[in-house]
Amino acid sequence: MKVGFIGLGNMGAPMAENLAKAGHDVTGFDLQAPCPEGVAKAETATEAAKGQDVVITMLPNGAILRSVADEIIPAMDKGAVLLDCSTVDVESARAVAEQAGAAGVMAVDAPVSGGVGGAAGGTLTFMAGGSDEAFAKVNPLFDVMGQKAVHCGDSGAGQSAKICNNMILGVTMIATCEAFALADKLGLDRQKMFDVVSTSSGYSWTMNAYCPAPGVGPTSPADNDYQPGFAAELMLKDLRLSQQAAEAVDADTPMGHSATDLYEQFVEQEGGKGMDFSAMLPRFEKRHRG
Ligand code: NAD
Repeated sequence: MKVGFIGLGNMGAPMAENLAKAGHDVTGFDLQAPCPEGVAKAETATEAAKGQDVVITMLPNGAILRSVADEIIPAMDKGAVLLDCSTVDVESARAVAEQAGAAGVMAVDAPVSGGVGGAAGGTLTFMAGGSDEAFAKVNPLFDVMGQKAVHCGDSGAGQSAKICNNMILGVTMIATCEAFALADKLGLDRQKMFDVVSTSSGYSWTMNAYCPAPGVGPTSPADNDYQPGFAAELMLKDLRLSQQAAEAVDADTPMGHSATDLYEQFVEQEGGKGMDFSAMLPRFEKRHRG
């Protein structure tokens, strides 16, 4: 397929490179980042979007997505697909899809899970929103860039699934970390705590697969001085998106709200920026009640 790729950062570059390696004809554009191997360089976003079957965007946020969409949609062929893989607010995803539709362009919002390692290894999970026709057209590209793609529903459904998942992730990471810190103060050995919880009703992905305690459970960023992995500020971004969405539809999300406050404090006041999101455990270790 002829593919335009806009946003060649930590995630976008390896995704574009994998598409080129698989034999797709990829043209890339980024304001700063260089083009990866096998990807032809365009001088503007419009140039990268013109005449393509699919244009993929992998950008920092909804405002930037909207401004790029304003620029490229008029240049795209009718029947082409604008495939946004960034994590953005549901409202921006729906607005861009509507704008595309009005110009005869199809749109899919398909944020990813799996991080930079998943992007490099072609093992991302995509959660997609858009029409059946648009999903079918981009599905072969998902096969190259990832290991699984779930068609979640209409436009915005991909972003909705992503922020609900990551709200659960933020909340359970905090719960796991505060439980470890409590167990420490109760004199409970961390390995015993893991052995019990990982096989009892308190088990979770954060305990079983990404244990925040160094030396316990499978290898995780905790074993590497809490270098990310998944950075605390990216978790904060996703939690804020969950609260923006909850506000928009009047949903009561008290745990998501608390998790957002805690990660905000951690990232903005307590030096958590640049650390893995599981570094909540050393944060709790140092604290006292009240
Ligand atoms: P990044 O900052 O490394 O890359 C973003 C790129 O977009 C940068 O190279 C930047 O120069 C470029 N850009 C910004 N404005 C542009 C414009 N107007 N035109 C062209 N290029 C422009 O970010 P990333 O880590 O690659 O993340 C991209 C998206 O993927 C984000 O929405 C993020 O939330 C999401 N995501 C990231 C991860 C992760 O682990 N890094 C995991 C899942 C999802």
